[in-house]
Amino acid sequence: MASSCRHQQPPLSHPTTTTRWWSEDSVVIITGANKGIGYALVKRFAELGLTVVLTSRDQSRGLQAMDSLKVLGVDHHVRFFQLDISDPISIQSFVSWFRSSFKAFDILVNNAAVCFNAMNENSMEYAETVIKTNYYGSKQFTEAMLPFFRRSSSMSRILNISSRLGTLDKLNNPQMKAILGDKETLSEGRIDMVVNAFLEDVKEGRWKTKGWPEIWTDYSVAKLALNAYSQVLAKRYEGVVSVNCFCPGFTQTAMTDGNGKHSADDAAKMATKIALVPVPVLNTGKFYVGSTSRGICSKL
Ligand code: NDP
Repeated sequence: MASSCRHQQPPLSHPTTTTRWWSEDSVVIITGANKGIGYALVKRFAELGLTVVLTSRDQSRGLQAMDSLKVLGVDHHVRFFQLDISDPISIQSFVSWFRSSFKAFDILVNNAAVCFNAMNENSMEYAETVIKTNYYGSKQFTEAMLPFFRRSSSMSRILNISSRLGTLDKLNNPQMKAILGDKETLSEGRIDMVVNAFLEDVKEGRWKTKGWPEIWTDYSVAKLALNAYSQVLAKRYEGVVSVNCFCPGFTQTAMTDGNGKHSADDAAKMATKIALVPVPVLNTGKFYVGSTSRGICSKL
């Protein structure tokens, strides 16, 4: 939790005129942005003056979100396009639209995710869908958008909205921990090996005894994979694209049935600070944890 953070991040303060590197020509894409933290992120980035692409897997829910932004008066630089990150055809439609509408973009926030368990449940009934959406969906969308990252001195940025439930200390399977913990040999193939081993354990009904994370197990494994993939990407694009993860902390959204320690707007404020950090102190390969009482900490 936040108390295990090694240090606070002083550069993650409010932007000043000297630290502000973005303008209305800076483009940010947010997945799963019709509600919750994704919607709050759209509002925050729009308030800060960037051009925002709001995406939603459901057309009408996306348009409703656009209507709400109009009511709030922050819709000027927000565009909407339907995107289901678990559907390769939807990803391709988005890419075609984006290519014809924008030249490039600066920030991608992979926020969309599902969880089918209530707070105190841990059923694996939808494990495949959870992995397919939360890990493979974010990964495939990222890969599809990589050619459109702006090559600029302010560096393009990916912020993966992740969870502490997917950190390595939650994994008690020594073999899988060794694979994900070895930064030198970590690769997409090795991450997929771990994910496949989990899905096989679910299929064979033995997942409870294999040392997988104990809470929201399928969701946690998907976030473990997303965190590991972020490390791989950060290494591959060092100096070109900054890739970080952010756990917003326990946040009041539909995913938590409205429970949580802070609002989606609070979480979005912390996430935007990380995404917009000034160029001289921009990091990559970090895992940030947000807490309204303790601020933003880096765990890696
Ligand atoms: P919500 O359930 O409120 O929002 C999730 C969003 O993802 C919705 O817009 C949902 O769309 C969308 N989504 C789901 N599946 C897809 C898909 N296949 N394609 C595109 N969009 C999809 O959850 P939160 O706002 O709480 O979650 C946002 C992020 O924060 C997630 O990554 C979550 O894991 C993470 N997080 C949240 C925490 C919390 O306490 N709330 C804690 C730690 C991490 P639809 O409305 O159609 O369902």
